[in-house]
Amino acid sequence: MESLFRELQYIKGVGPKRNQDLQKLGVQNIFDLLWYVPRAYFNRSNLSAISDLSPDTTVNLQVRVLSTGHNRTGRGFHIFKALLEDDTGIITAVWFNQPFLANIIKSGQEILVTGKVDSRYRELQLHVSAYEILDGELSEFNVVPVYPLSGSLNQKSLRKIMQFVLQNCLPDYPEILTPAIKEKFGLTDIHTAIHNIHFPQSAESYLQARKRLAFEELLLFQLSLEKYHTQGQLVENCAVHQDKTDLYTELQHKLPFTLTHDQEKVLQEIFADMESPRVMNRLLQGDVGAGKTVVAALAMAKAVASGYQAALMAPTEILAQQHYLALQEYFADSEVVLACLTGGTPLPERRMILQAARSGEINILLGTHALIQEQVEFNNLGLVIIDEQHRFGVRQRALLSQKGENPDVLVMTATPIPRTLALTAYGDLDLSVIHELPPGRKPVKTRYLPRSARHQAYEFTRQLIKQGEQAYVVCPLVEESEKQDLQAAITLYEELSHSIYAEFTVGLIYGRMKADEKDLIMQRFKSGQVQVLVSTTVIEVGVDVANASVIIIEHAERFGLSQLHQLRGRVGRGSHQSYCIMLADARTEEAKRRLKAMEKSNDGFELANEDLAIRGPGDFWGVRQHGLQELKIASLVKDIDLIRSSIEVAGLLEPEYIQSPIMNLYIKNKFKQSNEIARN
Ligand code: ADP
Ligand code: MG
Repeated sequence: MESLFRELQYIKGVGPKRNQDLQKLGVQNIFDLLWYVPRAYFNRSNLSAISDLSPDTTVNLQVRVLSTGHNRTGRGFHIFKALLEDDTGIITAVWFNQPFLANIIKSGQEILVTGKVDSRYRELQLHVSAYEILDGELSEFNVVPVYPLSGSLNQKSLRKIMQFVLQNCLPDYPEILTPAIKEKFGLTDIHTAIHNIHFPQSAESYLQARKRLAFEELLLFQLSLEKYHTQGQLVENCAVHQDKTDLYTELQHKLPFTLTHDQEKVLQEIFADMESPRVMNRLLQGDVGAGKTVVAALAMAKAVASGYQAALMAPTEILAQQHYLALQEYFADSEVVLACLTGGTPLPERRMILQAARSGEINILLGTHALIQEQVEFNNLGLVIIDEQHRFGVRQRALLSQKGENPDVLVMTATPIPRTLALTAYGDLDLSVIHELPPGRKPVKTRYLPRSARHQAYEFTRQLIKQGEQAYVVCPLVEESEKQDLQAAITLYEELSHSIYAEFTVGLIYGRMKADEKDLIMQRFKSGQVQVLVSTTVIEVGVDVANASVIIIEHAERFGLSQLHQLRGRVGRGSHQSYCIMLADARTEEAKRRLKAMEKSNDGFELANEDLAIRGPGDFWGVRQHGLQELKIASLVKDIDLIRSSIEVAGLLEPEYIQSPIMNLYIKNKFKQSNEIARN
């Protein structure tokens, strides 16, 4: 297999110049080239006639160029047009934003084009996705690949290089599946698959190639997960929790409510892990307001009752403080010592906390990123809990657990992740899910209004505030800079506090505010002194004020679906009917789809699926750091069955095989970027 990692310079047809161009495309060696999949195919055995075209179909045409021209749209887009003819008719073809085409495509040429037929002003147009100028040298294949290109590379030269590599190097490519597995899952062999992804000779052979390669990627991704590499290695000295006091039972009896069925269930799963001599690595998922904090509190009570310390890390100062307050209440009559450490903790207090954590005097330490600083040490940390885990990297999680000797780790997220995605993105973690919300919650009524109707929204909200309820107004997200976010918040705050809501007390909170100022504002909002809280997105996660019953989200079209759902989760926590009003001028279809999805559903899992369908997994909560963006063929939306099979097969393979040098080499080269990230 090593021979596959030779540089391309030494391949026939690749000189230093082409080598450079290939490097720019991320192709460094033969292995990368084999995985350099076409973005489209020309199928000459499947040409259409212009007279037969109908809208919304994707077609291949072989045509003559009659004339060309270009123009600019009002928004500055460049459009290149060509009038094309075959023996049956004429059609206009358009290319977007490729002004250089004027030098390439000329009248009189014979070209192949593939693209989508669109009907505009009752005329058909072709939106070209790929083209090729025919120069008499027809290839031996009917179906030819179209690759993404750069520099001096062209389709013909790249195809030649590919054919050479397929012929001469592909035999060295390792087959990692046994015949039995291939048969069971209906997978073709790897050599055929790689050959046919480049030069499929039928739709059938393409589909088979795609299936095998998608499977290959998903399987390798699974196998890259930590758990397949530590399996069988017994972790000595790991935290084993065995209650020595009644702390846990006492706490449970004192709760002002009974746990939901799902809360009980996840606690059982967590406790089974904590009691066992293997390290817990568990992801607790539960929609906003599902009641994860109390689960965390009970798990920490168990850790403390077993003689260990526990730590809880939250992504923001506000959240850390809020957890601190909640836990102080839960543990009020006990001897448990709690402390909260954040970036804003004053120095003398900080010193005392560090000292008391080291000596073991503090039983439960809460905080923000401040917890992973070097100076923070524990006496015997047995349980680590990370709230809103998608805000933290894998590395930060590891840094906190390294402060104990193999402590159990529970990560919590309020962002529901579709199961298959969770199994891939967080494949290292066991899953516990709270589906059920505490009883008595009324679904939040959600509407989106154009910004021109914003006064209607403010008026509606005014009536509720007059009845003693409270409101959040969330400011537009201006992605470019925090400064602009802040400016937008201040402007809105002034408008609301001086005119629209002059009769009420309006508060303002934003990310870069000093910690004690934030505290003060949050406390005043919680106690009802502040009735309207204007905020940037700092309130996105976790804030719990039951009396708040309206949230107005300004410029809601700028927020992603998961973020909108998180924001909405700030209301609907008490007994009032709650409302979420999204003010939005949705210009794109995507934005409209998001806002409609919000109106239709209050279920985070449903919305997560919708979000995945709209956006794909590229940006999906923290997925970036997991290498999933490196999947070239597999789709986390379409290949759910393959994901399942890949997980099953990963479980069938022998640990010795998975950990063998050849597999290591293979995985390392398939997921280069994520390996780099992991090393950083
Ligand atoms: P999240 O899962 O979003 O972190 P929280 O833990 O903040 O949710 O809980 C939201 C609210 O629900 C809190 O005020 C909490 O006291 C309350 N709560 C939690 N569990 C229950 C339950 N079983 N019955 C009633 N209320 C509950
Ligand atoms: Mg929470």
